[in-house]
Amino acid sequence: MVNSVWPRLEALLPSVRKPIQYVGGELNSTVKDWDACDVRWALMYPDAYEVGLPNQGTMILYEVLNEREGVLAERTYSVWPDLEALMREHDVPQFTVDAHRPVGAFDLFGVSFSTELGYTNLLAALDLAGIPLEAKDRDESHPVVIAGGHAAFNPEPIADFIDAAVLGDGEQAVLTITDIVRAWKAEGRPGGRDELLMRLARTGGVYIPRFYDVEYLPDGRIKRVVPNRTGVPWRVSKHTVMDLDEWAYPKQPLVPLAETVHERMSVEIFRGCTRGCRFCQAGMITRPVRERSITGIGEMVERGLSATGYEEVGLLSLSSADHSEIADIAKGLADRYEGTNTSLSLPSTRVDAFNIDLANELSRNGRRSGLTFAPEGGSERIRKVINKMVSEEDLIRTVSAAYSAGWRQVKLYFMCGLPTETDEDVLQIAEMARNVIKAGREASGSRDIRCTVSIGGFVPKPHTPFQWAGQLGAEETDARLAKLRDAIRADRDYGRAIGFRYHDGKPGIVEGLLSRGDRRIGKVIRAVYEDGGRFDGWSEFFSYERWMQAAERALKDEPVDVPWYTTRERDQVEVLPWDHLDSGLDREWLWEDWQDALREVEVDDCRWTPCFDCGVCPQMQTEIQIGPTGKKLLPLTVV
Ligand code: SF4
Repeated sequence: MVNSVWPRLEALLPSVRKPIQYVGGELNSTVKDWDACDVRWALMYPDAYEVGLPNQGTMILYEVLNEREGVLAERTYSVWPDLEALMREHDVPQFTVDAHRPVGAFDLFGVSFSTELGYTNLLAALDLAGIPLEAKDRDESHPVVIAGGHAAFNPEPIADFIDAAVLGDGEQAVLTITDIVRAWKAEGRPGGRDELLMRLARTGGVYIPRFYDVEYLPDGRIKRVVPNRTGVPWRVSKHTVMDLDEWAYPKQPLVPLAETVHERMSVEIFRGCTRGCRFCQAGMITRPVRERSITGIGEMVERGLSATGYEEVGLLSLSSADHSEIADIAKGLADRYEGTNTSLSLPSTRVDAFNIDLANELSRNGRRSGLTFAPEGGSERIRKVINKMVSEEDLIRTVSAAYSAGWRQVKLYFMCGLPTETDEDVLQIAEMARNVIKAGREASGSRDIRCTVSIGGFVPKPHTPFQWAGQLGAEETDARLAKLRDAIRADRDYGRAIGFRYHDGKPGIVEGLLSRGDRRIGKVIRAVYEDGGRFDGWSEFFSYERWMQAAERALKDEPVDVPWYTTRERDQVEVLPWDHLDSGLDREWLWEDWQDALREVEVDDCRWTPCFDCGVCPQMQTEIQIGPTGKKLLPLTVV
């Protein structure tokens, strides 16, 4: 029996911002009987409710686990600093929003990291939950803390704070872990926590950092990472779910009580991407492409809409217009929901896969939601370096289609600080935006159109060909962006129609430190947390100075510093902190692709060309799953 903290929490809520986010009871949420379950998960998205609730990964695992007999899963999100202070004062622990149970009472505490900037929030949640910050200080009474999500592909910076990390798709993995925990508990917890972690490690798909020792060279580079006990694999594999139709989750999407970043229902139409953009960690670590069938998508949309009452459906993936049957999907859904208020959106669309028919289908039944395209690089040359082969011609053709179909606003996303980039590459973004407005005015016959250029600093990520690259320093990034801003402002004819949104280079350096960091960075994260660092993804909370000062203190006895982790280029032989974590990508292939980038050589997409041996399919025993199935979405029968 575990008591709800609600009575104590409720008394605090009148004094905090947006108290509704802590109340729970959302449509499609689940509360199960604690005593009727023998494996209990607390699932966390380490950000505020408004960002965390719509997170698909957490929502999927929540439902997959709760569907199981005898298994219970509840959600918890980061509490804002105002509530944190009150919780500390009144001794209220980190709680789940479903039944307001204390997180510390669960068997497992799974935390999904889309970004490394959530690490300080993990520490805040652990501390509030009464769970020792460092895994080595925990005992049988504490939950097993498991990291997942994209950042878990290099969990080394948080190795001290987690018991385990799971790489890749979580659906099957959480069920395997559940079975292991259940068996261990049923046997009377033999061997204690250590034995449980050992059983998880032996699966080959759960990384237990404490079972590996990291040895360093005198100059600070890693010498090697070795298992420190027998039975632990040298490399830990990622998980890949095959046949998405069998995993049609979420079936009952959660409908938030408070405002969130996405007010729509999302259906993931495929997973993985083999376009091969060299900066894109999401694409590299989720290979190969696995499509959900057109009929499977139709069923999910139908069931999800009736379960939620939403009026917008987002067709989600890394590059939605690349689905082999996207035209039929968009048309079939638009036909089905003709005359209703249900609108469709493609949250991420490649420029070259978008066309006028798709534009028309998307706008047929409702409002035109924003269109965002990501050419990423301003010049043809830099787009070759990053393997994002989108020509300016494609872009102009696409935006003309959008403007003539009635859109008045298009957003273009770019990156600054890409390998080999010069000022000239970035300044060409201004030229591109100008050409977009010009074409848009011609296509729409109106001067009333806008194009917003949004630009962020590039951060090299593990398991990508750019994992060896030096990151551009914050000051250089800012200087380059200032030149671009001036160029846009100076344009008398078109400048006013171009919006310019940019982030300064400082958060990118912290993200870079955490992305490619090793275990020594744990001390920095802890120091930042102890100094009050929280919500580092939020500009109002982020403090660059706090991170730099913490790094200087924490690394003062080490031969490494922030530039060593960020702006330094690595060579081929250097052992990288995540080399023992297997994303399936062949290291040699990644290195060759990095060399191709420097030579400005492009690589095709293996969906439409022969396999180019990135290594994933043979290593993970997976295969590309794409259509077309040739099936069509039939009209829904009205009962
Ligand atoms: S192994 Fe070949 S087919 Fe599979 S994702 Fe890599 S390049 Fe594509």
